[in-house]
Amino acid sequence: MINCLFCKIIAGDIPAEKIFEDENTFVFLDIGPVSKGHMLVIPKNHAENLTEGSVEDACSLMATVHKIAPDVMRGLGATGYNIGMNHGKDAGQEVFHTHIHLMPRYEKDSRLFVKFQPSKEELHEVAKKIREVLS
Ligand code: AMP
Repeated sequence: MINCLFCKIIAGDIPAEKIFEDENTFVFLDIGPVSKGHMLVIPKNHAENLTEGSVEDACSLMATVHKIAPDVMRGLGATGYNIGMNHGKDAGQEVFHTHIHLMPRYEKDSRLFVKFQPSKEELHEVAKKIREVLS
């Protein structure tokens, strides 16, 4: 895609700290990291997000995470990692080329997500809404 930042990084038109590349995926450091070694795992095929792209590309992304995460941890002395995707503007997505955030974590890092406490009824309602539309 001509006007896509991440397509330009794959093509080498915009510089990036490349970490890994294979036939289907490309990995580079995030320039605004939330942890040391925060990186982005992206498909070479352009798609706005995970479900706009093919299931094959989705599987390739996770295969790359599976392949590199242990080495990333070993190389950086990380003791864990988070993976995440912002899917859509309201979820915080800023770059509309599918990407998985792979964020190494270290011993004194705190929990990322703030939990809330829904009632059993609220949980049931949410689950019901989802089950009703799942095919
Ligand atoms: P998201 O908010 O999920 O769309 O994440 C986009 C990510 O891309 C952000 O964490 C940015 O810091 C990162 N980013 C934006 N431009 C670049 C760039 N030129 N090189 C590396 N990372 C970038």
